Amino acid sequence: MEKNLEKYADLIVNTGLNIQPKDSLMIRFTVDGLPLARLVSKKAYEKGAKDVELMFSDDQMTLDRYLHGGEAAFERFPDYKVEYMEKLYQDNTHVLALVAPNPDLLKPADPKRIADWSKIVSIANKPNQKYTMQNIVKWTIAAVPSDAWVEAVFPDLPIEQGRDKLWQAVFDATRVSTDDPLKAWEEHDTALKAHETFLNEANFEKLLFQGPGTDLEVHLVEDHHWMGGSSVHSGGDRFFPNIPTEEVFSMPHADKVNGTLKATMPLSVRGQLIDDFHFTFQDGKVVDFDAAVGKQILQDLLDTDDGARYLGEVALVADNSPISNTGILFKNTLFDENASCHFALGASYAENLKDSRDRSEDENRALGANQSLIHVDFMVGGPDVTVTGVKQDGEQVVLLQDGEWRI
Ligand code: ZN
Ligand code: ZN
Repeated sequence: MEKNLEKYADLIVNTGLNIQPKDSLMIRFTVDGLPLARLVSKKAYEKGAKDVELMFSDDQMTLDRYLHGGEAAFERFPDYKVEYMEKLYQDNTHVLALVAPNPDLLKPADPKRIADWSKIVSIANKPNQKYTMQNIVKWTIAAVPSDAWVEAVFPDLPIEQGRDKLWQAVFDATRVSTDDPLKAWEEHDTALKAHETFLNEANFEKLLFQGPGTDLEVHLVEDHHWMGGSSVHSGGDRFFPNIPTEEVFSMPHADKVNGTLKATMPLSVRGQLIDDFHFTFQDGKVVDFDAAVGKQILQDLLDTDDGARYLGEVALVADNSPISNTGILFKNTLFDENASCHFALGASYAENLKDSRDRSEDENRALGANQSLIHVDFMVGGPDVTVTGVKQDGEQVVLLQDGEWRI
């Protein structure tokens, strides 16, 4: 365990964030992330990092705030918190989120309070959204098990046993348990870049998703760019936004998505679970939806703003990966989205549209780049879903079938 944790920290500092001398680092974490955060901090300093800032939160206190906080606590998000983050970003600070998933944390809280507060926080932080969505800074999300996560994934196991099993699954999914994780990630990046290159050269006009409850036509924006594996930040450093990552993703045209879409995994959003849900799209917009579990939560999510009812990301993922091979439903987006094709409701990524950084938000929107305060991934994949690419001249290419790449 100790050895693997050390390797995990090495991977985060060297490959994930690719820390360079004079970089600063902000780590977001909870009590479960403390041992890993300490290792990351030490290794970042060893690589010449200027400073490491901490942003600690506690799940119990977060829940208590929703349950027992007065109205004043939810009126507005203070400017100084936004300015603090903005100053850090402008001072060459990069961000690591060590998430310890707690899929059902806010279940006892008032959903309206959660939805309203999420919106207030998002609106207040809008000026800072670009630092990560446009890769102005380097950012990485990695996960550590919490007891709540262990219980959600292995409800039938004693907690000690479940915890060991989940850590092992995290180490396997992130390739930390290989002899040389940094080398394994280089090879993995090369493989993802090969799919990225194929898809970019094919320059598909649209994709077709077909499976049980799913029959969807998704046009890509013109001049779209597929991305997989490493990204490059504005200063030119390679980094990996997600550990693990198995996806190759691009930008759907926000107004050119038509048909039905049935999610293939549950979704934990804002500490609440949504399950067994589907959408109908017309000219890009969700015009109908239902969920057997958490319908109101989904409704609130879609009502966040205009862009919340449109897609901002389409991602292709094969079944054969260290994550899928664990055979575990993680009930956490970071893992489940990398074991399955997925879409995101809400904001698109600038890197998926050529030259988007040189245009205004409105100009990009006119080209089909969705804008929203949210970016929420949900899964539509697995062996039953076939994905076909359609070229400009009408030629069809099967991309994924029976869960495997066909290219
Ligand atoms: Zn994705
Ligand atoms: Zn996403």
